[in-house]
Amino acid sequence: MTTRAIFLAVLLATAGTAAGARDTVDPVRVRAHLDFLAGPDLRGRGSATHDEAVAAAYVAAQLQGYGLMTAPGMTGYLQRVPLLRQVQAGPAELLIDGTPAGDATLLSGSGGVWGGKVGVLGRMPAGSKVDVLVVPDAATGGAALRKARAESGASVTVIAAGEGSRRGYEAGGGRPRLPMDFADGAPTGRGANVAFGAATMQRLQRDGATAIVSIPFTLARTETTNAVAYLPGRDPTAGVLLLTAHLDHLGVGADGAIWPGANDDASGTVALLEIARVLAAGKAPRRGILFVAYGSEEAGGFGARWFGDHPPVPLDRIAANIEFEMLGARVPKLAADRLQMTGYERSDLGAALRAHGALIDADPYPEQQYFRRSDNYALALRGVVAHTVSGYGEVATYHTPQDTPDRVDAPFMERAIQSLMKPIRWLADSRFTPHWTKDGRPTE
Ligand SMILES: [Zn+2]
Repeated sequence: MTTRAIFLAVLLATAGTAAGARDTVDPVRVRAHLDFLAGPDLRGRGSATHDEAVAAAYVAAQLQGYGLMTAPGMTGYLQRVPLLRQVQAGPAELLIDGTPAGDATLLSGSGGVWGGKVGVLGRMPAGSKVDVLVVPDAATGGAALRKARAESGASVTVIAAGEGSRRGYEAGGGRPRLPMDFADGAPTGRGANVAFGAATMQRLQRDGATAIVSIPFTLARTETTNAVAYLPGRDPTAGVLLLTAHLDHLGVGADGAIWPGANDDASGTVALLEIARVLAAGKAPRRGILFVAYGSEEAGGFGARWFGDHPPVPLDRIAANIEFEMLGARVPKLAADRLQMTGYERSDLGAALRAHGALIDADPYPEQQYFRRSDNYALALRGVVAHTVSGYGEVATYHTPQDTPDRVDAPFMERAIQSLMKPIRWLADSRFTPHWTKDGRPTE
């Protein structure tokens, strides 16, 4: 680079930062938030952990710093949600015909003793009821597996250890997943999912085999944390917008590896922060805006469900909810710089935002059921027109320790956040109230 080029670059960078401080996305802030939230010190912001609480405190402090208020009826910027969870108290024990099997990996399960009569998928008479369903074909997965398990009545599912089981274990955060619930509930589940090596799979397929899985556990109190802030509107009759993201991710695996969750969903949290900063710096919008970064989405949408049951304004005053998720990679099936809106056809919100410049399209992966797979769903079930705007959901780093800040497409993410500013500003200023289309509102 020549001296003149360096001079020009410095000039441009300085101009960019000055403008960014007011009404446009600031790449420096985007980088700083992402590096902190998905950096080593927050250890992957595990759901309902102290690391998650630190992330919530950081987000809350940023929102407070932009001049946002506490939400109506709240005295601070944090909403703490008491939870109860099962904690594994020792290694899971597995007996086949009374003999221990040492090569098992517990993928998920609920504490207790499960199992009994074994059946092998594909070799049982139709309609057979068994306690343990052995799935020898590693290609059987997802919906087919769930269906077979439900039909057989099995409490334990056994799959072959291999790439599929390894990937499943890793996608869950590299440790067995045990139930969690709100503190006034009971964190219970039924059965276990286990992976075995080839020799044990052979033993399980002997006629008349029995298998027992026991998972020792205790209960532990914990809490998850939502960061909540409010930008008051000019017109108290105009309703409130709810803008959200989830600040938790999968945390630390059993082997100590960190799942940083830069794309999922530090990127959405950064979008929430930048949109909050820019809107707070402008003229007061017609509608009030609630900014919420939820805890424990990954563990089952606990932050969003609690918020939906304890909203600072009545839910029927919330005109719409937009969740920001995974904005760090472009969607291959869409044109460059376009985002997908989950459940697009379920309401008239997406079309209205598009008409006001939003670069959003219908989600081109309906088979993935993304509409049901993020925090928006908890609000949608409670009647709020609620969607998630996101980039690509099937990135190679999805739910792996490789979801790091350097693998996020930062320029795409900055453009994505910028593209949402004007349409959201319009929605906040307009009298347009979105509605579900016929049959669009989910019921279960
Ligand atoms: Zn996730």
